[in-house]
Amino acid sequence: MRHWELWSLRWSALAYWLVVWAVALAVCVLAVAASGRPEPEELHRFGAIALTAALVIVCTRLVGRIRGERERSPWAIHCCYLLAGLLTLPLNLVVLLLLGPALHGVLGARPAPHRWAFTTAATVVATFLARAFVGWHDVTASPNDIVLAGVVLVLTRALLVGVGFWLRDPSAGVVPVAGDPIDIVLGVVAVCLGGLMGLVAMSHGAAYALLVGPPMALLDQVGRLPHWRRSAQHDAKTGLANAVHWDRVARDELARARPRRTPVALLLLDIDHFKRVNDQVGHLAGDAALAAVALLLRSSVRRGDAVGRFGGEEFVVLLQDAGSQEARAVAEALRGAVAELRVPVPCADGEWRDLDGITISIGVATSERFGYDLSSLLTAADAALLSAKGAGRNLVTMA
Ligand code: GH3
Ligand code: MG
Ligand code: MG
Repeated sequence: MRHWELWSLRWSALAYWLVVWAVALAVCVLAVAASGRPEPEELHRFGAIALTAALVIVCTRLVGRIRGERERSPWAIHCCYLLAGLLTLPLNLVVLLLLGPALHGVLGARPAPHRWAFTTAATVVATFLARAFVGWHDVTASPNDIVLAGVVLVLTRALLVGVGFWLRDPSAGVVPVAGDPIDIVLGVVAVCLGGLMGLVAMSHGAAYALLVGPPMALLDQVGRLPHWRRSAQHDAKTGLANAVHWDRVARDELARARPRRTPVALLLLDIDHFKRVNDQVGHLAGDAALAAVALLLRSSVRRGDAVGRFGGEEFVVLLQDAGSQEARAVAEALRGAVAELRVPVPCADGEWRDLDGITISIGVATSERFGYDLSSLLTAADAALLSAKGAGRNLVTMA
């Protein structure tokens, strides 16, 4: 127990987490003490909601495992059936339903159990606060009440968890504290589904709660979309558009610029003697240098200019609204900035040192000379790049 990570929390965070746990526990005890024996109808409703939730959680986990994907935060799914439960079940069965998130944490062997226990406790408090808003003993599940309960559940949970994570690490960014934007959107969709689940279970019979299973499972898949899109379009090492995505974006930009005759320019950049960098300081250091050059390129050009990783140590930039003079100026600025770069890299002996003296050669082709066909621009820029290499490297050559 002395080795628990929990004790490494800052004092303010530890005190806050303990208070949330104590309140959650007290509310559960109060809820159980305040309710009597459930009616058979209520037990059926509990069974249908719990079965739907269990099926969805088990199926989404299995599908994720088969695909070899990382497990996503399941809180949207938990919020969905908890709202249905708090609207339709007596207090003691709501407590039983809250074993769902708790069991999920235990069976899923979460790497930081205290963190899971804290978010579960925050969910318990938020669930019962939402319940108090719609009637502690007898719920009035009018449409307005359902909306109110959903808003209270999501906002209270987000607030309790957000404050806890912020106290734990005040320097953490917005995402670790407030959650991923997609999870916030899914939380809102989840409570809408939860409201519907509660409504159909009450008006049409418990078994109809199962109808919410498929859309609940879809929520988990939708949550993966931003990650899938990002990994399909971006290069993992540099974060830039990968060659296929860059090609698509560049063709779209050229098609837009052609009818307006807006000048565009294509820059093909290649790091000089990069093989030597790898040979001298190792491939991990080479990767760090690649990432640093990529970051510099991305932050040096305008937002609308498409920057991509063309191949190994080659990059490509499509400059919008740039004639040959502007393109040359931008290319010279990039070349100069890379030459100034100092990249902290890990060395074989475990020490870090600054890698400097990285240079790039750049071939530039403009639409003014070569038109708006991507292949023609690339061929011309590649020929210019070759001549920059032949002329001694660390140079910009206009095609
Ligand atoms: P030049 O000045 O003529 O361009 O010489 P160079 O050594 O840069 O060119 P060459 O094409 O001979 O070698 C490119 C090197 O880039 C070879 C390869 O090991 C390295 N490289 C390509 N992709 C990666 C990568 O993702 N990480 C690392 N560390 N190295 C890479
Ligand atoms: Mg090279
Ligand atoms: Mg190369």
